[in-house]
Amino acid sequence: MSHEITMAHCNKCGQPTKHDVITAERKEGTYEEHGGQEEDVEHWHEVYEMLKCRGCETVKLRHTQQWSEDTPATTVFYPPAIARREPPWVNHELFELFSNVTVPALTCALMREVYIAVQNDMHRLAAMGIRAAIESVMIEKVGDQGSFKANMDALQKAGYVSVRQRGNLDSILGAGDAAIHRGYDPSCSDINIVLDIAESLIAEVYLHDHRANELDKNVPKRPSRKQNLQ
Ligand SMILES: [Zn+2]
Repeated sequence: MSHEITMAHCNKCGQPTKHDVITAERKEGTYEEHGGQEEDVEHWHEVYEMLKCRGCETVKLRHTQQWSEDTPATTVFYPPAIARREPPWVNHELFELFSNVTVPALTCALMREVYIAVQNDMHRLAAMGIRAAIESVMIEKVGDQGSFKANMDALQKAGYVSVRQRGNLDSILGAGDAAIHRGYDPSCSDINIVLDIAESLIAEVYLHDHRANELDKNVPKRPSRKQNLQ
């Protein structure tokens, strides 16, 4: 049996790919529109299609609705299309199997909820969640000092973040606070910037340090001056 093939965004492949339409359910009907003197009969339809990526075999649902021939169709995917890929460390249990360093489970769980919020255009919740995830990093590393600002000071003092990164932390705090207290609704690009900062900070604190130590162990040391003179 041959299936219909359609192009759709694949979250796993991270780009539009060919999908098989495994099954589809179509509904259609008409309704009368009373506009002025004339009466129009409008045709509507909606289709639910189960799609399977021909590359990675991931399955998703596509819902298309059109309320009249003159209006454009709206299309929604379940799960929604992801504009950005999650870093691998977010899947704490899986990452733990392949790496001897991990990001703490609580920080990973908070960040996973952040990505769900981002996928569903819940930018305020995402900004609040990113702030909470960074707070969990600070408390885990330096203990709770009573406020976000005091925690940031302690993190910087302990050498986990540079002066430049400290400025980035201020931006995360600012975005999260404005979303909670001042009705700020971050744009998609604002959220992407805050996410970039948060992801690199978390990787820096938990993963890069360890990798730098590994590299140090593998690079042959320069002989000391004393040895050269002998
Ligand atoms: Zn795919």
